[in-house]
Amino acid sequence: MLFETRVIEVIQRTPDIKSIRFEKPQGFSYLAGQYVVLTLDDGSDPMKKPFTLSSSPTEGFLEITKKLTGHPFSNALAGLKPGDQVSINGPYGEFTFQQEYEHIGMLSGGIGITPLRSMIKYLIDKKLNANIILLCSNSSENDIAFKEELEDAQKKNPNIKIIDTITRPGPDWKGVTGRINAEMVKKFIPDYRERTFFTCGPVKMVDSMVSLLKELEVPEKQIKREIFPGDN
Ligand SMILES: Cc1cc2nc3c(=O)[nH]c(=O)nc-3n(C[C@H](O)[C@H](O)[C@H](O)COP(=O)(O)OP(=O)(O)OC[C@H]3O[C@@H](n4cnc5c(N)ncnc54)[C@H](O)[C@@H]3O)c2cc1C
Repeated sequence: MLFETRVIEVIQRTPDIKSIRFEKPQGFSYLAGQYVVLTLDDGSDPMKKPFTLSSSPTEGFLEITKKLTGHPFSNALAGLKPGDQVSINGPYGEFTFQQEYEHIGMLSGGIGITPLRSMIKYLIDKKLNANIILLCSNSSENDIAFKEELEDAQKKNPNIKIIDTITRPGPDWKGVTGRINAEMVKKFIPDYRERTFFTCGPVKMVDSMVSLLKELEVPEKQIKREIFPGDN
């Protein structure tokens, strides 16, 4: 379905990541993890791209969170201001969480955190009895979107555990380093065979996460994936 909406807020999440919040149109409903196709139309050349809603269905607005690339669509999106009008088509996608799984593993790469943030916020707001362990990979500590919010969620909720890993750490990073690998999964998610996994990020990352989980003998039906194409 096609909806018209307006920007209500723009949030700089990291130097290279912005969230844009929109009014939730009447009649628009979605599941945590779903995406919309956003159209930006300056009157000359409409541009469309898919974006996961990083907001949760429990929140009173819609939010998308974009890695800024300097490309035309990205620049147009980054230039949006409160009051600007856009159209969205959707919702779409089957990479969703309602309350079907009690033991969940999440593996995210970069901006692939967006659907997982939606699911975690949904779980918290709905007070669902599910346990989540998120392994979250980024290039540098400055690239971690929703860092404070997720740390806060972990502090307040014993059922949520977040492990950040950084592939190009600065001198002050004291945490885990390197890409997500089998050893990391075994160490931080020891009951991995009993969990349903959600993995999201660039194509190479998601492919390697799926191979890794299969090597660890996680059954195929317990692996959910969403790919964000391009070098985001
Ligand atoms: C279901 C879904 C959900 C998504 N959710 C998010 C999200 O939450 N946040 C987010 O930031 N992005 C998300 N994306 C990706 C998003 O739609 C854009 O593709 C991405 O943000 C890059 O857009 P851009 O305009 O900045 O760059 P682009 O101009 O699209 O370029 C990005 C890179 O991809 C390359 N490229 C472009 N098109 C192709 C192609 N057809 N084949 C191969 N390479 C290509 C370019 O050369 C460049 O290196 C999602 C994608 C999908 C499919």
